[in-house]
Amino acid sequence: MILLKSIPKVDKFITHKAFEGLSTSLITKISKKIIGNLREDILNNRIQNIDENILVSNVLKEYEIITTPSLQTLINATGIIVHTNFGRSLINKKSLEKAIQIATSYNNLEYDLNEGKRGERYSHIVKTLQNLTDCEDAIVVNNNASAVFLILNTFAKNKEVIVSRGELVEIGGSFRVPEVMSQSGAILKEIGTTNKTHLRDYENAIDEKTSMLMKVHKSNYSIEGFTSEVDFEEIVKVAKENNIIDYYDMGSGHIIDLPFNLSSNEPSILEIMKYKPSLLSFSGDKLLGSVQAGIIIGKKELIEKIKKNQLLRMLRVDKITLSILEDTLNSYLKNELDEIPTLKMLYTKIETLEQRASKLLEKVANICICEVIKTQTLIGGGTTPNKKIPSIALTIEHKKYKPNQIEKLLRKNNLIARIENEKILLDFRTIQENEIEKIADILKKIFESVN
Ligand SMILES: *Cc1c(COP(=O)(O)O)cnc(C)c1O
Repeated sequence: MILLKSIPKVDKFITHKAFEGLSTSLITKISKKIIGNLREDILNNRIQNIDENILVSNVLKEYEIITTPSLQTLINATGIIVHTNFGRSLINKKSLEKAIQIATSYNNLEYDLNEGKRGERYSHIVKTLQNLTDCEDAIVVNNNASAVFLILNTFAKNKEVIVSRGELVEIGGSFRVPEVMSQSGAILKEIGTTNKTHLRDYENAIDEKTSMLMKVHKSNYSIEGFTSEVDFEEIVKVAKENNIIDYYDMGSGHIIDLPFNLSSNEPSILEIMKYKPSLLSFSGDKLLGSVQAGIIIGKKELIEKIKKNQLLRMLRVDKITLSILEDTLNSYLKNELDEIPTLKMLYTKIETLEQRASKLLEKVANICICEVIKTQTLIGGGTTPNKKIPSIALTIEHKKYKPNQIEKLLRKNNLIARIENEKILLDFRTIQENEIEKIADILKKIFESVN
């Protein structure tokens, strides 16, 4: 096997001048692998000669692949505003810039500047949340799933939690209410039926082992037809009468009313707070439009108890999260809703979307078959799961490609579209103004060569 003898030695191979300036340890690792594969290929008669230049270029290619960041930006043309696969809510650049200031400098995260002694991490958002929601106290954890877990573990370990059968939610497979509950140590007491739960079901289920009445937002389904569920207002009343806790896992949770008449069956956090509930929790990065977090608001004595739970230390948020969240909440307080990208997209007028779609149409009309159409989309993130909102899309067709081929070509360029009625739709509810030019360039790139 003369070829085996001419396999390059790794020690020497890695000194090739093409590798100058690159990480020697990574180049060595890749070279060992590629030279190892070469040996296999020779032994199995898969190659007849060794070309060192090809080996070098393969190592460089692999180096490039490994060191390219995996997390990339993409253009969301699906129309789904709070898209769980695409990072949920966008964060305002200015909020992030403030967070950069905080994170790249020492700060008062846990320091009381007035007293000159240890302060409280959560204090930074309490005042804002008090002013915004009239809550007594608040705390923030890693995400809403951990908020649910922490609340159940704090108040319902080895005790019963009463939940309607119609609300035993599963979200994306990794969050199922019954399982979260058993992991937390709480005992689930299901009441009612899938389609109907009455106030008397709650009342009859309460006994000395009951710690809590819990309501869960039906985030990704709705039950239609012969149904009834109990308003949270009633649940709060029954809990008070029986001296137990009421808790509403609101899921997305929105501070202000939703447009397109969506609020009629989705009361806002401010509406719910009028009932003076014991505890509410909601996500930071769903419709609230901020960073990943789980926000818990409610009665002071209960929040105090949560703070004493050792688990809090494992679920706590860092300075970057707190800084961004504080800034978003401040935008609500100051009624600067335009500063919250998720709300801005949700409230953009149809006429504006139409103008943007026409702008793109003008740029690409000569390279593909396209048309501006009225369409409907979803908010996403579990808000009003079955209710669509109006939107505008540009349809894209091409005589040489099928829709699924176009979809794939767009996706290769990090542009994610949706297919409807055999057509590619670019939905302008989620396309940012500054992305129009980029989309035109992508379409030119993929279609101009075949025209
Ligand atoms: C989304 C959701 C959660 C989980 O929230 P995360 O912020 O994703 O952890 C929990 N409960 C409900 C009802 C939800 O909609």
